[in-house]
Amino acid sequence: MTVTAIRTKPYWYRTDRPFADANFPKGRQEWAGLAVFIDTDEGLTGVSIGGNEAGIESLAPLVVGKDPAGVRGIWKSMVDQVFKGGNRGSITGAIAAIDIALWDLKAKAAGWPLWKLLGASEPRARAYASDIGYCLSDDELRSFYARMAARGVTAGKLKGGLDPERDLRRLRIMYEELAKAVPGGRGGSPDRPTAAPIEPLICLDSNEYWNPKQAIPYIRTLEREMPLFWVEEPADRWDYEGLARVSRAVEAQVATGENLNDPKEVVPLLTHGAADVLQPNSGHSGITGMLMIADLAYGFNIPVAVMNSPGNYLAHVAAALPNHLMIEVVDAGRDNWFTVDSRIEGGEVVLGDRPGLGWQIDLEKLEELAVPPAHHDAFNFGRRKGAGILIHGEAR
Ligand SMILES: [Mg+2]
Repeated sequence: MTVTAIRTKPYWYRTDRPFADANFPKGRQEWAGLAVFIDTDEGLTGVSIGGNEAGIESLAPLVVGKDPAGVRGIWKSMVDQVFKGGNRGSITGAIAAIDIALWDLKAKAAGWPLWKLLGASEPRARAYASDIGYCLSDDELRSFYARMAARGVTAGKLKGGLDPERDLRRLRIMYEELAKAVPGGRGGSPDRPTAAPIEPLICLDSNEYWNPKQAIPYIRTLEREMPLFWVEEPADRWDYEGLARVSRAVEAQVATGENLNDPKEVVPLLTHGAADVLQPNSGHSGITGMLMIADLAYGFNIPVAVMNSPGNYLAHVAAALPNHLMIEVVDAGRDNWFTVDSRIEGGEVVLGDRPGLGWQIDLEKLEELAVPPAHHDAFNFGRRKGAGILIHGEAR
């Protein structure tokens, strides 16, 4: 089978509710995406999302004419091509989108779901609920975690980092709802939580807003009231020494790595003891990069926790990783021109048998979404005032 062309289509969509974190507490609901289609001479098409048109176009000559079965070799040629500028930023997004569509094709050609092609023995991965909802009201937060607990999810991650009292109040809400799903009611109560790491597993994500000197007392303050399973990105993604200091100073595990790009970038995290949990993401230059990161972590006895994805399609990868802990799930309606053959059941993402990534695409819907909104600015959160310097509360 040979790749004949790569096509792209930009689209815009609204999530069911805003996403928000410490860097963008008021949140946003409008997002941009890029659909990527890789056509072949045998009529199969690989599909993915991500990157930008210019990046995909610049890499296309390395892909057209190749057999998608050689996806890891094609990945290497793309990464080598961008060597001088580095495998980072928007070009990494393009490498990732192409890589993921090639894995989709390779599995489709085999007639297998991707989880099987990647060697998973079971089509499932443990899930944790993630609100990405700094701006949600307490009631909205409660109903999100109640919905997740109803599907058996007993682990969660709150967005916080600007106000410890507010975080504690909301961590208790999360705890209360998730504890209801713990078998045998072992979850205790939010006023008298069980010791970590007994379930429910409670995590906090501050999205690199703190520096280590801010992070340590902040986390210790929370831990006096609530055992935390992990704290996520408690310092700058490249601050290997700082992250290691946080890890040594608090009870919670430090989870980090989601915003790095090239797989090699996680090596200093591992050698400095800066990550207790690594977080593979599609932005790690695709599925090929995610597999490398999981293997590197495996060598250091470090578990990995795969990041969220539309329809939880990255559970195909999570299911195949021997050191996988739990995958982030968000329930907010994204990239709504395709659905994924997966469901959340018994606290796990359970994948189906549809070949490849298992996406059911709706091209008419994609056409509708391809009309740009009348006014749109940057679609990213950016980094908020005070980050790493002085904590500015929500109102400032
Ligand atoms: Mg995060």
